[in-house]
Amino acid sequence: MRRPLVAGNWKMNGSRAGNEGLLAAVAAGAREIAGVDIAVCPPFVYLADVEAALAGSAVAWGGQNLCQETGVGAYTGEISGAMLRDFGCRYVIIGHSERRTLYGESDAQVARKFVAATAARLTPILCVGELLEEREAGTTEAVIARQLDAVLDAVDSLGQAVVAYEPVWAIGTGRTASPEQAQEVHGFIRRRVARKGADTAAALRILYGGSVKGSNAAELFAMADIDGGLIGGASLKAEEFLEICRAAQSA
Ligand code: PEP
Repeated sequence: MRRPLVAGNWKMNGSRAGNEGLLAAVAAGAREIAGVDIAVCPPFVYLADVEAALAGSAVAWGGQNLCQETGVGAYTGEISGAMLRDFGCRYVIIGHSERRTLYGESDAQVARKFVAATAARLTPILCVGELLEEREAGTTEAVIARQLDAVLDAVDSLGQAVVAYEPVWAIGTGRTASPEQAQEVHGFIRRRVARKGADTAAALRILYGGSVKGSNAAELFAMADIDGGLIGGASLKAEEFLEICRAAQSA
């Protein structure tokens, strides 16, 4: 039985004043939810505040990205995995489609980031997903396989890593993959990961992301291979985010 994870990706949103109320409400609501791992991933600059607000709560936190280099050095503007650990992060999102499309992150770079995250003892949340034109061209599985294999080829083991399937056409668009469409790809991901061992594949948490809301979370989380969600817009509203966490609890 895989323990569900619901992780909020705040993207480039928030303010010190506004985050306070959101974090307090999420931490308070999380006290009533059992059997679900809950996390938020704020912009880097808020990590110290988030650590102070959530330490001792049931809510973990993480980064939205990290540098592929380990150690310290002349990498202006970058944040290392060790720095994220220094601020109590448990998770880090890797290869989000916005990083891939807006900032040109390649599969190889994503794989290096994955390795850097595990070296820093962070749990990577590896995002994979196809563009609309790739889905329409019938190449969804080929795209997912390419993105996954770049990482699978670079590591001996996936460890505790989490995979998030996020069809790019469903992110921030209000268009959600149907539970059946999502399940089909989640099943494919699990079968692909089985090349690292059947036990690894069976234990792997695969999250769905793409316009998940309180109103559609339950039907998605009811699918056999959907183990929670990576939540963008809806993670900025405490009650909506908690409703999604409660849907994971009942799944
Ligand atoms: C995301 O950013 O990972 C995401 C899934 O966004 P949204 O929930 O807003 O579609």
